[in-house]
Amino acid sequence: MTSVTIITGGSRGIGAATARRLATAGHDLAIGYRRDHTAAKAVLADIEAAGRRGVAVPADTTDPDQVQRLFDAAADLGPLTGLVNNAGITSPIGPFTDLRPDDLRQVVDVNLIGYVLCAQQAARRMTSGGAIVNVSSAAATLGSPGEYIHYAAVKAATDTLTVGLAKELAPRGIRVNAVAPGIIRTDIHAVSGVPDRPDTAAGRIPLGRAGEPDEIAGAIAFLLGPDATYTTGAVLRIAGGL
Ligand code: NAP
Repeated sequence: MTSVTIITGGSRGIGAATARRLATAGHDLAIGYRRDHTAAKAVLADIEAAGRRGVAVPADTTDPDQVQRLFDAAADLGPLTGLVNNAGITSPIGPFTDLRPDDLRQVVDVNLIGYVLCAQQAARRMTSGGAIVNVSSAAATLGSPGEYIHYAAVKAATDTLTVGLAKELAPRGIRVNAVAPGIIRTDIHAVSGVPDRPDTAAGRIPLGRAGEPDEIAGAIAFLLGPDATYTTGAVLRIAGGL
């Protein structure tokens, strides 16, 4: 049976690297994104160049109707077998006391409510088993003091979501795992106001450098694939020792 996998936030960063990786591993792919059409089209072209089918759908994961549209579009590729819950944001780095309510709400909306809405759609549609990978963060256990504690707390919620869903969905043959990246070289750091964070933070990472999106994509491919059939409820830390 063909693997049909949805990747939210598949237009850039970790999601885009994962799409390219999964295409070479034989998955047909539906990638969701918010507004970067050009980047999404480039990923789609690479999926097709790898000989797989793909669809790119603008779908804000905080909106249940748009999430449904993404999953409906994926259904045209065949029965859903995989979901990578990846679309995430941070907000400006700074002290906790400066956190603005709008930024807090947005981080909760995208990183938690969006993940729950997508996992719910996946759980309803994976009638013959499947696998979900939630992209969490090493921040969940580090707490991110002075940077974005609210983001870290929401990522900890992702880990709990992973553990609970793994147990609830196991009888239906649906595995649920998470990856917890450390500091990875993507555009997300520009949104938080520190675009050069992968370089400036290198000194406090035991392996001495930031990670690359491909180094997360490989772990996601493993968790979705045939070598992980007994792995569920795991949070795989990929953080260079952080
Ligand atoms: P990124 O490069 O900024 O890419 C984010 C992706 O998510 C883009 O495809 C973006 O779409 C999409 N997106 C954002 N908000 C969305 C929404 N509301 N609905 C649908 N799509 C949305 O980010 P990244 O660094 O690859 O991060 C991916 C995941 O890894 C996130 O969950 C993040 O928290 C986690 N993570 C990242 C790091 C790191 O250091 N980079 C570390 C730990 C965890 P558009 O292109 O259309 O804007």
